[in-house]
Amino acid sequence: MSEKKGRVILIGAGPGDIGLITVKGLEYLKQADVVVYDRLVSSDVLSLSPKGAEFINVGKVMNHHNIPQPEINKILLNKALEGKNVVRLKGGDPFVFGRGGEELELLSEHNIEYEVVPGITSAVSALAYAGIPVTHRDFASSIHFVTGHAKDGLVENINFKALKETNGTILFYMGVSTLKQLINGLIDAGIDKSTPCAAVENGTRSNMRTLISTVENMVSDADKFQLRSPAVIAVGRVCSLGNKFAWYTKSKIFSKQIIVTRPVVSNNILTNRLKNLGAEVIDYPCIKISEIENNSSMLNLIENLNKYNTLIFAGKNSAVYFFKSLMDFGKDSRALSHLVIGVLGKSTYDELKKYGICADIMPKDYTFTAFASSLKNAGVKGNTAVLEATQDKRLSEELKKQGFNITSFNAYNIEYLPLDYIKPLQEYIDNGVISAFTSSAAVHGFVRGNKIEDLSKIKAVCIGKLTYETALNYKMQAHMAAKPTIDDLIEKLKEME
Ligand code: SAH
Repeated sequence: MSEKKGRVILIGAGPGDIGLITVKGLEYLKQADVVVYDRLVSSDVLSLSPKGAEFINVGKVMNHHNIPQPEINKILLNKALEGKNVVRLKGGDPFVFGRGGEELELLSEHNIEYEVVPGITSAVSALAYAGIPVTHRDFASSIHFVTGHAKDGLVENINFKALKETNGTILFYMGVSTLKQLINGLIDAGIDKSTPCAAVENGTRSNMRTLISTVENMVSDADKFQLRSPAVIAVGRVCSLGNKFAWYTKSKIFSKQIIVTRPVVSNNILTNRLKNLGAEVIDYPCIKISEIENNSSMLNLIENLNKYNTLIFAGKNSAVYFFKSLMDFGKDSRALSHLVIGVLGKSTYDELKKYGICADIMPKDYTFTAFASSLKNAGVKGNTAVLEATQDKRLSEELKKQGFNITSFNAYNIEYLPLDYIKPLQEYIDNGVISAFTSSAAVHGFVRGNKIEDLSKIKAVCIGKLTYETALNYKMQAHMAAKPTIDDLIEKLKEME
């Protein structure tokens, strides 16, 4: 056993939405060696863990029984004794009906270092997403968290009379299977039967459902609604506001299935933004970009830079790999001082700025023809070098056609990957699921990485003109964002049926 003692961090993962883990919780999660999690932790939040961590699912049902609590406690202890940085990830807040207290007992006996990072508890946040403020000066001045869990068929020691008398908002956790007993308990205690009620199932997730009812009708309404766990049940006058303020489920993107295509390594802003809006994202890393080993083409360019008077970067990665090679070669940006520099796209422009270079030519429209016009307008004539992917020579070919004196150099490799997800890509396409594209390389990846029967069935929402034209060339049903930004792309996705 290792000399070094590990530690355990008890972290509240929040109710499900990837954005609802705390900043501190996320920081700790990213440093985990071992992640011990249970059923209520959403896969989105879990995906924020380090890839190399050991994952232990203690929410698994084995022979109809959950892993017993003492066993979970032992797992935490043993992993910490092995010197590991253990994260115990729990749904909502670890101390709100989360047995967090029990898990610290054994650790404390063995002098294991631990910390607790609170989380956003599901009842409050699920209601917030349903547009129900848990307190409101006109309706409720207290909140009561109650477990509806039953032991031996009876709900545990709930003082319904006291609850009724507070006139506050009552929030039942674990109350789906005991709903009838809970509601009857309140009725027997004399609650007004017209008191509004709500149930929020899978709160803050893309499959969230909300039921608004009254004490009188709640049991039969929940039955018709087929209410399932996890759900929070709320009783109190604030619940009447749910119909009015249901911002989350009313959002145009809520529960929409969207395939988001992207390069393998890239922090995916679009995926996270869409998930925060309640979309069901099918994450599709469809292109893998990699360095070319012993890139003789690139070295040839670097050694002969003085033979060219114009250098064109076809995309951001052309710049990334060019400067890497240039510096490996012992040179820097000064080697480019005699060159006119052209870029296709703002992200390429921004990448060059990192090396102290402001490109001379960047067309407003990200198309090859617009690019050719910009070059003509700038008076570009002599030897022109284009840096592009080995597998995608469209820019240099178009420029050659237009009469420029072009030499193409290989900057990097692109590999096109198939969709590896719950269902095959064809099934999503047949069901009319929309695909979002933030680069034309991704459109190629989508088509070349899979066997698709009929490309004209694909609903493609594209960030910019080049991407859009690539989709059109494949005969997809292509749509384009008003401007080439993530915000405009999301707006376009909202409009799609
Ligand atoms: N520690 C958790 C609660 C665990 S008890 C917390 O702070 O939220 C489990 C109960 O939490 C479930 O039975 C359900 O009532 C509630 N719950 C958990 N996640 C939920 C979600 N996403 N939507 C609605 N209720 C949820």
